[in-house]
Amino acid sequence: MQLIFEKSRAGRKGFALPEIDVPITGALPEKYCRKTQANLPEVSELDVVRHFSNLSRLNFSVDTNFYPLGSCTMKYNPKFTEKVAAMEGFSGLHPLLPQLLGGGMLAQGSLEVLYNMERLLSEITGMSAFTTQPLAGAHGELTGVMLIAAYHKHNGERRKHIIIPDSSHGTNPASASIAGYDVVVIPTDKEGFLDMRSYKQALNRETAAVMLTCPDTLGLFNPKIKEIADLAHAVGALMYYDGANLNAILGKCRPGDIGFDVIHLNLHKTFATPHGGGGPGAGPVGVCEKLVDFLPISRVVRRTDGTFALDYHKHKSIGYIAPFYGNFGVILKAYAYILALGKSGLIEVSENAVLSANYCLARLKDYYALAYGKSCMHECVLSAARQLEQGVHALDIAKYLIDKGFHPPTIYFPLIVKEAMMIEPTETESKETLDAFIEAMIEAASLSKTNPEALRLAPLSMPVKRLDETRAARVPDLRWQPK
Ligand SMILES: *Cc1c(COP(=O)(O)O)cnc(C)c1O
Repeated sequence: MQLIFEKSRAGRKGFALPEIDVPITGALPEKYCRKTQANLPEVSELDVVRHFSNLSRLNFSVDTNFYPLGSCTMKYNPKFTEKVAAMEGFSGLHPLLPQLLGGGMLAQGSLEVLYNMERLLSEITGMSAFTTQPLAGAHGELTGVMLIAAYHKHNGERRKHIIIPDSSHGTNPASASIAGYDVVVIPTDKEGFLDMRSYKQALNRETAAVMLTCPDTLGLFNPKIKEIADLAHAVGALMYYDGANLNAILGKCRPGDIGFDVIHLNLHKTFATPHGGGGPGAGPVGVCEKLVDFLPISRVVRRTDGTFALDYHKHKSIGYIAPFYGNFGVILKAYAYILALGKSGLIEVSENAVLSANYCLARLKDYYALAYGKSCMHECVLSAARQLEQGVHALDIAKYLIDKGFHPPTIYFPLIVKEAMMIEPTETESKETLDAFIEAMIEAASLSKTNPEALRLAPLSMPVKRLDETRAARVPDLRWQPK
């Protein structure tokens, strides 16, 4: 079937917006048709299969090995979600398909998925409305901060800064800064929480927002979170929730109920779709009632006749932040994941994620220094400070784990923890896998005493020796071929 869609554009306040999509059926115009065959290389099916099989083996993934990369939540992606995303009615859709195509309504199902997903995410997080357009967590942050700016501007206020703790992910200050705000950094206190004295000093009527991760990047849930939110609201500032760690509290508590006004989620962390190698993500943004009007266009709406449509006519909107409507495949997989698990399943996810992390913490605390606290949420932060006495760094332990078949945990983040090793096992790993990983960590701890050189030489199982990481980033050698 060859369909060409001609869009009539309805210009509105400087936006050139597609309003009505008119399909025209017919062949491609003659001038676009090639006269001779394209000169494409011919290879056998076997060669193609080998090429892609070998390529896939170069990829370290959750499907092949344990991947406890803290903060990233590299969770297992159930295969049924891939099946759903591959269904032809979804995967074969063209993004320029008209919203209502005669009686066919090819795009209606997808619009309904987006509509339902926005409702589900609102329910899970306690927010009033969501946009699923942002393409990653960091993109969601920028969108969220732009919403905050639009809100203050609408109220005739020019607020100057955003408050962010020193344990935050680097994208937080980057997003605030790109959106035009100064960043005020608050130190972490002895217990690993936002230092309340500095916080109160920094907070004033120039504060546009307080941007927090909760539980935070140290794997801790701040018991003063409500007080922090109340103090911010008392000076007219908004609360921003970095939802990268939502996996820890799914079904247990809702950021909206705590008092957060804007939130981004990382669908590729909390709801399947591990994102190694820079794969696609999705960073939906949710808002409380007073921010709904500022959400990006287009908005998915349900008409009175039950059909769905994209609505571009929102004059307070911050405008377009992404072409078309988000990374639809990632949204679809997350939607299937949420529907399959249901409420009780999502609660089990967070309980098991927290249990797995605490199991690792409990078994490793005699061998490694703990960053903060005696228990954790869904990830635990250890330190190689003791091993450093033998000249062994977190980096050496990470490289040793590669030899043992494990993806290293996140190291040197959060920045405030010396020789940090941030372990996030997720909910789906078996006790056997966790035990094998823990044994490897214990081996590394004892090697650091008996043979520190062995750790400094790791990894030995790789086709190349340990890389000079700076050179590898600056002058990458991409010629290496699989054996
Ligand atoms: C991953 C992460 C982000 C950024 O999300 P991306 O999807 O990688 O852009 C922000 N904050 C925290 C705490 C994260 O772990």
